[in-house]
Amino acid sequence: MEKVRCLIIGSGPAGYTAAIYTGRANISPVLYEGIQPGGQLTITTEVENFPGYPEGVTGPQMMEDMRQQALKFGAEIRSGVITSVDFSKAPYKLVVDGEKEIYSDTVIIATGASAKYLGLDDEKKYSGMGVSACATCDGFFYRNKTVAVVGGGDTACEEAIYLAGLAKQVYLIVRKPYLRASKIMQDRVLNHEKIKVLFEHNTVGLFGENGVEGAHVVKRKGEPDEERYDIAIDGFFLAIGHKPNSDVFKPYVNTDEVGYIITEGATPRTNVPGVFAAGDVADPTYRQAVCAAGSGCKAAIEAERYLSEHGL
Ligand code: NDP
Repeated sequence: MEKVRCLIIGSGPAGYTAAIYTGRANISPVLYEGIQPGGQLTITTEVENFPGYPEGVTGPQMMEDMRQQALKFGAEIRSGVITSVDFSKAPYKLVVDGEKEIYSDTVIIATGASAKYLGLDDEKKYSGMGVSACATCDGFFYRNKTVAVVGGGDTACEEAIYLAGLAKQVYLIVRKPYLRASKIMQDRVLNHEKIKVLFEHNTVGLFGENGVEGAHVVKRKGEPDEERYDIAIDGFFLAIGHKPNSDVFKPYVNTDEVGYIITEGATPRTNVPGVFAAGDVADPTYRQAVCAAGSGCKAAIEAERYLSEHGL
């Protein structure tokens, strides 16, 4: 039976930062990379808002740097996905890839969240070439250009307003005849001179030679007065929600109705002693790499304290 003191699940900024801190604290952490090694940043291009990189850095490079830093301080990084857990008694049992069992005194859940996509083949085709699920990350590249945001919730409205501060024109593509967002966000969007809301519209495809140049949209799809046409855009932003990767932990760890792990106040403590959550899996609000890194640091410090308080 393998038993470790700290097991970190996930290899985004939260997981690696937790590994750097617990590694430096001589806890010999073991980190499982999960389904998408490096996390969401590996699907963005340039990262310009992470402090310390005045020239910017690519998402994959930044994650490789963090990985090397974690290795330097003694973290053991393994490929593998945690497929089930038993948090009913400590040390906690975790199952890797459906077969290997590992026990740990503390667990840091840093499994992130996955942006939802419409499921169009063109979203994959133009990934990193005009399709994005993060306006704060990629909006800057669309200064004075035309973009579309898909979604009618608070995130979509927020992203449309953010992009309207940079772009020439923003289309908000909403499938229903109304916005789901809060009243104040609706008002801001509907009264913004640069934002045009396309109610009752669905996107059915994207086109362009070397990147997105436009979208095929359908108005009132399936109705007798259905209308199909194209809009010219340079960027296509998805804002139809995120899914926190917390399903495996739900039998033991409290989550909100969407699945975000609930932590105690501003700490990364979950309802299970010695189990901590960091990064996007517990952050429905900010979802930024720098915030994830910060919460990974907090989780590591909490794990270290827990081990020492329990003489482990
Ligand atoms: P929501 O689930 O609130 O909204 C998702 C939106 O995407 C809805 O308009 C939905 O349409 C649309 N959508 C979903 N799937 C599709 C699809 N396949 N095709 C087209 N449209 C689709 O997610 P958000 O990320 O906006 O918000 C999550 C939570 O975070 C909410 O509680 C929100 O209030 C909160 N939040 C708060 C903020 C703030 O207060 N400043 C900022 C950001 C988020 P439909 O309405 O038809 O279902």
